[in-house]
Amino acid sequence: ALTIGIVGLPNVGKSTLFNALTKNTVLAANYPFATIEPNIGVVPLADPRLARLAEIFGSARILPAPVSFVDIAGIVRGASEGEGLGNKFLANIREADAICQVVRAFVDDDVVHVDGKVSPKDDIETINTELILADLQTLETAIPRLEKEVKGKKTDKEVLDTALAAQRVLEEGTTLFVGGEAAGVDAKLAKGLGLLTTKPFLYVFNLDEDGLTDASLHDELAALVAPAEAIYLNAKLEADLAELDPEDAAELLESVGVTEPGLEQLARVGFQNLGLQTYLTAGPKETRAWTITKGWTAPQAAGVIHTDFQRGFIKAEVVSFDDLDAAGSMAEARAAGKVRMEGKDYVMADGDVVEFRFNV
Ligand code: GDP
Repeated sequence: ALTIGIVGLPNVGKSTLFNALTKNTVLAANYPFATIEPNIGVVPLADPRLARLAEIFGSARILPAPVSFVDIAGIVRGASEGEGLGNKFLANIREADAICQVVRAFVDDDVVHVDGKVSPKDDIETINTELILADLQTLETAIPRLEKEVKGKKTDKEVLDTALAAQRVLEEGTTLFVGGEAAGVDAKLAKGLGLLTTKPFLYVFNLDEDGLTDASLHDELAALVAPAEAIYLNAKLEADLAELDPEDAAELLESVGVTEPGLEQLARVGFQNLGLQTYLTAGPKETRAWTITKGWTAPQAAGVIHTDFQRGFIKAEVVSFDDLDAAGSMAEARAAGKVRMEGKDYVMADGDVVEFRFNV
């Protein structure tokens, strides 16, 4: 599943947000990994197509695509030099597909700010600096080793060149996510070197409730983090929403002028940012969304359900959600010629409703 690492300075609302995440008990029951790991929370990727499919197929349950969040503790000023928990955060961040920084933008004199003042810009820089320093340390060890390996023809020169180009970007105080591509840093090779700042960054601004509908404030904050995406929420409100049943939650949201819960928005934006999409399976037992990368073929997509499906792939019976929705049933969709048999070269489209045929 897609995993987003949550970072942030102390006292910005990380734990409050994380509590909201882990209270998502409905999903936790369906995705057992969420209850095993105490620092993992799961949000379902909202998808209105699922309810319609479940209706058409009479499915007993619905399983949306899970988006996992990992709480990455311990990034404080000086962490890369051993402050706080020191470098312990690195291993956790390496496993995440994207890095999401929670930034304090709420004002509350009762909540102490670690650096004495609320400044989203400074906080973003502090965290970026620690991640950049961590990458520079990685390169400091890697580059001499790569130089030897290139001389001995054990490693391609390309890898060393990537490391050196990355070092130049980072030394200017720029993350590879922002500056890597323009400087010719190959993202895949950089990732292979274990560099963290190549990962996509997202920002969650924890705002006062009033700030949730303040468009000019949003613009101001968005400008701080562009080209990264920004999400605006109130962590306390998210925690309250997590405790309510869907109807009461919708009412509370409406009362503060917001249409989409912040955590759902975060899951959606994270998903889009990483070039992911879903395909759907449906039957009497369950309707389910499966996460794949855009451009994947039918056998690759089948492999997400089970590796045997990929290995023994024969063909896929495919109908687009829209066609099935319009037809109202599989029988009608077939009669209208909307159900196709696709082979191993078929590139999946978002919202394909699929049944795989395979040999075991
Ligand atoms: P963490 O250290 O980043 O995990 O921060 P916490 O979630 O523990 O929050 C620190 C303090 O800020 C707690 O007292 C929270 O109740 C408070 N807090 C969190 N979010 C908000 C918010 O949106 N508004 C206000 N006023 N206080 C908040």
